[in-house]
Amino acid sequence: MALRIAVYPGSFDPITSGHLDIVRRAAALFDEVVVAVSLNASKSPLFSVEERLGMLANVLSAFSNVRIGSYEGLTVRYAESQGAQAIIRGLRAVSDFEFEFTMALTNKKLAPSIETVFLMTEAQYSFISSSAVKEVARYGDCVRGMVPLQVEEMLRKKYRSL
Ligand code: ADP
Repeated sequence: MALRIAVYPGSFDPITSGHLDIVRRAAALFDEVVVAVSLNASKSPLFSVEERLGMLANVLSAFSNVRIGSYEGLTVRYAESQGAQAIIRGLRAVSDFEFEFTMALTNKKLAPSIETVFLMTEAQYSFISSSAVKEVARYGDCVRGMVPLQVEEMLRKKYRSL
């Protein structure tokens, strides 16, 4: 039988404990999960692509069926290039829904064979977002538990050097 492959796309600027939980759960559902940094030019990220890829490689090294990638352009085309049947997205709150719903329908139109699979956040991570983490870290406050330990250190270094 063909391998079940899913792409989990995002900015991951930086990866948070919420993202990590989604990866863990997706890796249990699929044979292979490709965590992919989307290079969306309209956002100005705190971490470079190289930094984010390094961070993901470090944080996700324990998962034997998780790969890391990056792409420019449409997520569905990237998913096709990876032989994926599914795109994973996480849902935190009703406020995520409208945007995600529109995107999932657009992607379905572009690539009918690729399913978007939504995983609901664990309650304990529902308030975590990359932007909130950056806001807290920027002012030197504690992000313990909101991000993996390696990311905590990278945030500290980044804001010290800015
Ligand atoms: P994007 O810029 O594509 O939204 P993000 O890196 O912010 O990229 O998020 C990637 C995906 O992870 C999105 O589907 C987002 O809803 C989901 N996500 C983000 N934070 C959490 C969280 N705390 N719990 C569950 N899912 C999350």
